[in-house]
Amino acid sequence: MGALEVREGFTALYGTAPEGVWAAPGRVNLIGEHTDYNDGFVMPFALPHTTLAAVARRTDGVLRLHSADMPGAPVELRVADLTPESDRNWTAYPAGVVWALSQAGHEMTGADIHLSSTVPTGAGLSSSAALEVVVALALNDLHGLNLRGWQLARLCQRAENIYVGAPTGIMDQTASACCEAGHALFLDTRDLSQRQIPFDLAAEGLRLLVVDTRVGHAHSDGEYGRRREGCEKGAALLGVDALRDIPADGLDAALDRLGDEEEVRRLVRHVVTENARVERVVSHLQSDDLRSIGPILTEGHISLRDDFRVSCPELDLVVDTALAAGALGARMTGGGFGGSAIALVEETDVEPVTEAIEKAFTTAGHTPPRVFEAVPSAGAHRVD
Ligand code: ADP
Ligand code: MG
Repeated sequence: MGALEVREGFTALYGTAPEGVWAAPGRVNLIGEHTDYNDGFVMPFALPHTTLAAVARRTDGVLRLHSADMPGAPVELRVADLTPESDRNWTAYPAGVVWALSQAGHEMTGADIHLSSTVPTGAGLSSSAALEVVVALALNDLHGLNLRGWQLARLCQRAENIYVGAPTGIMDQTASACCEAGHALFLDTRDLSQRQIPFDLAAEGLRLLVVDTRVGHAHSDGEYGRRREGCEKGAALLGVDALRDIPADGLDAALDRLGDEEEVRRLVRHVVTENARVERVVSHLQSDDLRSIGPILTEGHISLRDDFRVSCPELDLVVDTALAAGALGARMTGGGFGGSAIALVEETDVEPVTEAIEKAFTTAGHTPPRVFEAVPSAGAHRVD
């Protein structure tokens, strides 16, 4: 659905024209998984898939929310009544953003919002962040708040953590708010400093395939929480603020110090090596050596599978099959337990790799995966 249809959809619903239409993308994380709550490095890029929002301000404190992707009439709430963890529906995401903005001292007088998205939901491609960021950007523009991308991302993270009640790091919202076309975003989650790293796959004759396994990651919250606690325990045992503070060349000494804490040792090893992998990928991209990142992606997958233990049979099947069919590298992306995987392939290998993955899923009796090419795209922006 394009901007015009979302605009018309708004008018049909609410009887007036919106003040504008905004877009925010989903994201794929190229490398740097489960590092964002350890003050570490991540490197996402924005997908061409976006969530669009047509928005108009109101003055009576009423918030009306509608999504073309969800059944039902607009949901009507009052800004003054918004309460964290009171809403188990999709409306908690946009309402949480309004709540976070008013908590931060920005007067919210109500709004009418109509949404429509092409970001697959629950596929590990951050449809939730796209939804939050598009609402935050629209209200930022309409109220003249002049908040920067990283500030909007922080507010959206608060919305998701506190209002929705989902523990997530800062990566997804920052990616959706700050990415640029043709680039990956090198983000230091400790101080939120960021660098746009050129990532022009097509110029090098390469493609990046995203494979949505269609395995929902909806019940992964408990596992995520356990990993997070394990990382915090590791940092505490090692006497550092966060695992980010363990340098790669200090890993062996750190593991020795953890003694028989086997689970914590594995978690620490993943986080420390993963941060180093992000830095290696950055350095290859900066010297226009895109093919060399392939093996680093694959190393990252093995670490997530064996040390962090957040993969699943379908994700492993994508990675193994892609590599066997000629991919330069492949790994799961996102939190794990389902969701999506990525594969870096020569442009001439797109078809054979795609076909091999589809065939492997059929043979294994899995639901057919959704495979598409991801072009690094623009972050959130106004479209109309
Ligand atoms: P992911 O962010 O990986 O797609 P999440 O579970 O974090 O998965 O977020 C998915 C949830 O976000 C959906 O279940 C729904 O509540 C909400 N959501 C995402 N996109 C939309 C949309 N276009 N309209 C309504 N709700 C949406
Ligand atoms: Mg999400």
